Formats: sequence, C-alpha cells, structure tokens
Amino acid sequence: MDPLKTYKRILEGKEKPKFIKAKEDGTLEKKIKEAEGILENCKLCERQCGVNRFKEKGFCGVGNEWRIFGAHTHWGEEKELIPSATIFESGCTMKCVYCQNAPESMDYNLGEEWSVKSVAEWIERKWKEGCKNINFVGGDPTPYIPHILKALSLVNVNMPVVFNSNAYLSETGMKLLDGVVDVYLFDFRYFSEKCARKLSSAPDYPEVAKRNHLLAKQQGELMIRVLVMPGHIECDAKPVLRWIAENLGNVYVNVLGQYHPCWKAWDFPELKRNLSSEEYWEVISYGKGLGLKV
Ligand code: SF4
Repeated sequence: MDPLKTYKRILEGKEKPKFIKAKEDGTLEKKIKEAEGILENCKLCERQCGVNRFKEKGFCGVGNEWRIFGAHTHWGEEKELIPSATIFESGCTMKCVYCQNAPESMDYNLGEEWSVKSVAEWIERKWKEGCKNINFVGGDPTPYIPHILKALSLVNVNMPVVFNSNAYLSETGMKLLDGVVDVYLFDFRYFSEKCARKLSSAPDYPEVAKRNHLLAKQQGELMIRVLVMPGHIECDAKPVLRWIAENLGNVYVNVLGQYHPCWKAWDFPELKRNLSSEEYWEVISYGKGLGLKV
C-alpha cells in the first residue's frame, strides 16, 4: 500500500485535509484552547520545561511571539512534497552541533515576528500559486503548535499539513497534532543515547523518537528522514533503519547523504568531513537488505 495514499487523495480533491475536518466538527477550537493554556506551563516538547512562555523562555529559547526566519516555496523537499509552502520557525528543542540552518534556526531573536493572520493569508496565497502543502519546519515547529493551530483555524483551502520536525515532541504535543496534521515528516537522528547526548543535548531522544514515530503512524501518514553522519553508521544509521523495518513496516524512508560540516561540527573529530559516497551506499544497501524502500 502507498504510504502517502491519503495525502495524494487530498491533493486530488477526493478527501479533505484533517484540519478542515477538525474545524467543521469543532475539535480544532478545543485544541486551540488547550494549546493556549499550555503556553503558561510549556510541555510541548519532551524537555517539559514547564515555563510560562509569556514571561520567560525554556530550553528552546522561544517566547510567546511567532518568530519566522524564512517563508517561501521550497523545491528541495521530497518529490512528493514539492512545491511546498515552507515556514521556517526560529528556535529549536534540540541543539544539534551540526545544524545546517544555524544560527537562525537556533536563535529566536533572529526571526521576524509574524501574526497568526499574516501566516494564514500567506498560506492561502501559496495555495493559489500552486504549492501542494503547508510545511511547518524550523529550527523546530514544536514550540509553535499553539500558533500553528490558530493560523489553521483561519485557513480555508484544502491544503494538506506537513509537520516537519526532529520528532522530539512530548506526548502532549503529539496529541495536539492528532486530527490536524496529515503528514508527519520526522527525522530519526540517533539510536544511541550517548550520541544523542553528545551531539544534540538530548540523551532520551532515541526512546522519545521511537514512541513518536509509532504515534505518528497511527495519527496520520509518516515520512522518515535518516541523516547519515560520518562515524555514526554502526551506532545510529543502521540500527535506526533496523528498528524502522521491525516496527513500522511499510513506511516512507529517505536516507539523506548530504551531510557536510556546519556550525559547531568542527569541534567533533568525526564530523569534520563530508559523508563519503561509499558510506552512503553502505547504508542504502543495508536498508534495502532489511526490505525498506530506501
Ligand atoms: S517547547 Fe520544549 S524546550 Fe521549549 S519551552 Fe516548551 S517544553 Fe521547554
């Protein structure tokens, strides 16, 4: 079965996106109220800082404003998704030393403030221009779930929603997206706690990512990105693929080979170089051997 069957039916006009259905049955309004309450005691990602975002910032550095460092038609996503109306939100729930969008992705203050209404109008404009989906990314979009829900309540076009994330949401965050997001475009970065701690300050990432990938598959359609990093093939890339094959079955997997050193990667000996094509093809053939369509 096609892992993006429902997404494609929405594009063909045979089915409504989830957020439109949620508007019609009143669940979106309820979720907005719940999400707004969470801003006073933020537990949207697995850090569960509990800060009042009207007054202070948690680990992600995100306050109450919607800060965006880029919004454009994106042609660099998976072929099923392009052209994609992509919104790059400032701040992140992880601190990956090799981040390719840093510092803008990491620093809330480098984004511009957008109102919920202006985001909704931008989305509708992009739909008229021919974009296939609304793609919320960052940094990471998780701290902005309340803003995203509010913007969607103002959108009146049948455009599927893609939540493009590191997969480090809390269960609360995942629940708020249930019935709203059509496609979960999730990274699966690490299988080793040690690597997740060293490179992203998130030792519990492997367990959280496993839980959220399972939830995402129940809640909608799932596309998984596995970024292969030099020196992290045996500890991360291969066991991640094995876990996917054993636990998620027929799912869309994109193994990314474009790693190159960025930001603080130069401080980590194994990350100071590009991934070689031999390393990339080793991981691809391992995935194929597991029966994955990589
Ligand atoms: S999104 Fe995560 S890191 Fe940011 S304030 Fe909320 S719980 Fe903390």
